[in-house]
Amino acid sequence: MICHKCGQPAMGVCKFCGRAVCGDHHSNMPIILSVYVGGENTPKTIVVADVLWCGTCKPQPEPIPMPEIY
Ligand SMILES: [Zn+2]
Ligand SMILES: [Zn+2]
Repeated sequence: MICHKCGQPAMGVCKFCGRAVCGDHHSNMPIILSVYVGGENTPKTIVVADVLWCGTCKPQPEPIPMPEIY
């Protein structure tokens, strides 16, 4: 498994697109797992920080329609 950017041995795989990335080229992206309204009507989010991200792809929060498939 090698980094898709530089060809060095990869340290992990992007959570979103599956590309392998090395320590120099990975990024961390906090992802929001859920949003809920706590007491006193204060919106709160559950965020997971440090998700391995390749820094290249653009994770979408919603499913993307892909009409060109048909
Ligand atoms: Zn790299
Ligand atoms: Zn990616």
